[in-house]
Formats: sequence, C-alpha cells, structure tokens
Amino acid sequence: MPILPIVTYNDPVLRQKTTPVEALTPEIQSFINDMFETMYNSDGVGLAAPQVGSLHRIFVMDADPMADEDEETFGPLLFINPEIIEKKGDKITMDEGCLSIPEVTDKVTRPEKVVVNYRDDKFEEQTKEFDGWVARVIQHEYDHLEGVLFIDYLSAFRRRMHKSDLKEIDKGLRETSYPVKPK
Ligand SMILES: [Zn+2]
Repeated sequence: MPILPIVTYNDPVLRQKTTPVEALTPEIQSFINDMFETMYNSDGVGLAAPQVGSLHRIFVMDADPMADEDEETFGPLLFINPEIIEKKGDKITMDEGCLSIPEVTDKVTRPEKVVVNYRDDKFEEQTKEFDGWVARVIQHEYDHLEGVLFIDYLSAFRRRMHKSDLKEIDKGLRETSYPVKPK
C-alpha cells in the first residue's frame, strides 16, 4: 500500500467541499487502505480525503493514543459520507494541530459530543454518538470535508501570531517527517 503525499496549506483542494461516495468499490477500498497507511506513517490521529488531494467524502482516524485512561477506545475508525446531525454537551477548549499545517497548534473550542450518521467499513449505515477525544477528532476531520481548517476558528490576533509559519508552509519551505505534495 503506498503512502500518499499530504497536501499542505494553502492548497486550494483543502478549501473544496467533498462529494459522497456511491459504493465501496475496490478502488475506494484501496484508497481507504492508503489513507490509513498514510495517517499512521505521519503519526496523525486523523486524515481526511482532501488532505491527500481527493474529494471523496471520507475520513479515517485512530484517536486511541490520545485517550485518557478512563476513556473508551475504538481503534481505527472509518467514516464514509459522514454528516454530523447533532452537537451537544459543554463547549470544550483543546489544542489542535493538523498534518496539513505542520507544527502549528492552537486552542479551539468545540462541543463535547457529536452524533454522526455515516457508512462504516462494510458500507452499512450507522448513527452513533461520540464524546471525548474521538468527538474532537471527528469534528476536526469533518471540517476538512467541508473545506474548513482549524485555523479558521482563531481570532485575527491569533492568526497573525501564526502568519510567518503559514507563509513558510504555503511556500513549501517547512520540513516535515512525512511526505508532502510539492508546491
Ligand atoms: Zn487537519
């Protein structure tokens, strides 16, 4: 399975909306396998299709490394055609980062829980509630499918703080420990 190069800020594909997948064809399955491989290779906890230059409405994740001792773990999770149908619970602020914006992290406030309708690894429809780290990663990856990045939530002041970093990434000058798509 090949490791796919990761698309970095400010590539236009990261701003496009994705299209639902119609069936779990061998091509799509092979693409999903590559996404998992790419995510693990880059030590990421989640990866959305636009981050490897595809507009399939798919993301993969494995938030187990981030789980607190008392939190439920899920192992690898696959979300095909996800829709967040409800957000609930307290608003929680946590540090976020993104493989497409290497070495930039900042605090983002999001709801504690989400209810997601999606298709699983057998293309069967599921509706499930998630909380904790899993809900956090789901919301971050889901945003990618809508062309939204975590830095969009930052204040103008905080964005200015990251301006030189973002410029460096945009120009393709930032070193990463994983393959990225050349600028
Ligand atoms: Zn991201």
